[in-house]
Amino acid sequence: MKKTQLYNAHWDKVCKAFIARNHLCVMCQESDLINLATVVDHIVPHHLHFAQTAEEVKIAQKCFWDEKNWQPLCAQHHNTTK
Ligand SMILES: [Zn+2]
Repeated sequence: MKKTQLYNAHWDKVCKAFIARNHLCVMCQESDLINLATVVDHIVPHHLHFAQTAEEVKIAQKCFWDEKNWQPLCAQHHNTTK
């Protein structure tokens, strides 16, 4: 997979499926607010854009596609906090 194809159609699909199951923004919930999540955020930054070696790409991709590393966020939190 080319790095430029990172946010591809497949990601789009798994994102939507994830949000369908986790539809509230976790950061809003921490503040007792209820807002619908619109984006999937990586809890641990995957740094895939900066990966140079094959090994780094492998680690970054694992981080990128690991559902345990995802959290649902509203657009506002995703754009401000992250
Ligand atoms: Zn939020």
